[in-house]
Amino acid sequence: MARVALYVGCRTCGEVFDTGLRTDTTSFARGTFAANYHTCPRCGTTQTYRKADYRLVDVRTGQAVPPPDRG
Ligand SMILES: [Zn+2]
Repeated sequence: MARVALYVGCRTCGEVFDTGLRTDTTSFARGTFAANYHTCPRCGTTQTYRKADYRLVDVRTGQAVPPPDRG
């Protein structure tokens, strides 16, 4: 289990940004992340993102974490 930051890629400009959400891989795998709103810091577009849209980054190492099984 790793502490992770959730990033998403903006659908408008492609910027990958930190959503500010923090969780861990186990909680992420179990949780539902339906229709969360995030605003892109680059272009200002607010869109909804689902669980499958998140990119997990290990908080300690800054390395991308393979996503858990998305079913
Ligand atoms: Zn954007």
